[in-house]
Amino acid sequence: MISYGKQSVDESDFEAIKKVLEGDWLTQGPFVDCFEDDLKSYFKSNSACVVSSGTAALHLSGIALGWGKNDIVITSPITFLATANSIVYSGATPDFVDIDSNSYTIDLNKLEEKIKSYHLSNKHIKAIIGVDFAGHPCDWESIRFLADKYNIKLINDNCHALGAKYKGKKHYAIKYADIVTQSFHPVKHITTGEGGSILTNDLLLDQRVRELRSHGMVRNAKSGLTDGESPWYYEMHNLGYNYRITDLQCALGSNQIKKLDSFINKRIEIAKIYDFEFKELEYLKIPKNSDLINHSYHLYPLLVDFDKTKLSKIEFFKVMKHNGINLQVHYIPVHLQPFYKTKYGFNKGDFKIAEQFYEKEISIPIYPDLDEKDIYLISDLIKKNIN
Ligand SMILES: *Cc1c(COP(=O)(O)O)cnc(C)c1O
Repeated sequence: MISYGKQSVDESDFEAIKKVLEGDWLTQGPFVDCFEDDLKSYFKSNSACVVSSGTAALHLSGIALGWGKNDIVITSPITFLATANSIVYSGATPDFVDIDSNSYTIDLNKLEEKIKSYHLSNKHIKAIIGVDFAGHPCDWESIRFLADKYNIKLINDNCHALGAKYKGKKHYAIKYADIVTQSFHPVKHITTGEGGSILTNDLLLDQRVRELRSHGMVRNAKSGLTDGESPWYYEMHNLGYNYRITDLQCALGSNQIKKLDSFINKRIEIAKIYDFEFKELEYLKIPKNSDLINHSYHLYPLLVDFDKTKLSKIEFFKVMKHNGINLQVHYIPVHLQPFYKTKYGFNKGDFKIAEQFYEKEISIPIYPDLDEKDIYLISDLIKKNIN
């Protein structure tokens, strides 16, 4: 069965993990620092703090930015649950802004309207989490402009977009956002099994997330109440978690990041074939690659006008599965989840572009090890069954 996404591991990854097993540390050893250094140099951030998942990265970012009750945090309805859930974890109130119908990222005009309407009712938006959906960066320069104007913090949930470019720059994410969060889940660009990271140029934020990833423990005592010199000594000032990642995983991460550029190039090559195969076809819309950005294709979101096709979306999924292709849909708009409807009163019709997108979207297989013959098998099957 061919799935929409899959990790790419080889002999060099096995060797990297074996080296850790032969050493002294399995968790919190030298490879954690090493992977953090690799991330800092690839993404050009002052600091990188690796954690147990992308979700943990979002959770700690919200705490570090001081979110709490009465704070409003905005994100896109077209994202993984974890983005919105991280707002709820901190006790803040989530709200959404609809997506743009070409980039599938947050709509800038609607974002400005939303900010202004909160402003008029004397409510302050604490932060915006922009999601670089599928590997297409948001219009970060414009978001930064609004954030500065209205004193709003910015997180880039960059889980889909490692290696994407905005205005020609691969390290755009940390250039515009206060915090960048990443995930190394097996379907993402590089993997550590489970894993994530928090990139920032703000050393105070980095210090906070480091403290929180390990129970809130600090070794160099701040309060001076007890003997800070004692080698066993630690203090806890803030409630933290065990969100650490292991040395085993970080060794894998360091080896994977060496291959990131080649992984992205493979994804771009596959996308080019799909673009060529689908671009002239009625009922199909291929993902856009504007002048501003270079897509990194974590996903290949193909939009199908199922209102007009003979097969319904469910029937089409069944036919593809019967032929060994497991498609996916990214995503069911978060505001339509029962939890968000019940707790915050969202409803169908609130974010219409996102809802229309959901009706049409299919994520077709794209990952570095996808065979060329399978790429054509998939595109031929789609062309045969979408009419
Ligand atoms: C994968 C993903 C996450 C969560 O990452 P995990 O490592 O699975 O916890 C968050 N946001 C987005 C957009 C993602 O794709």
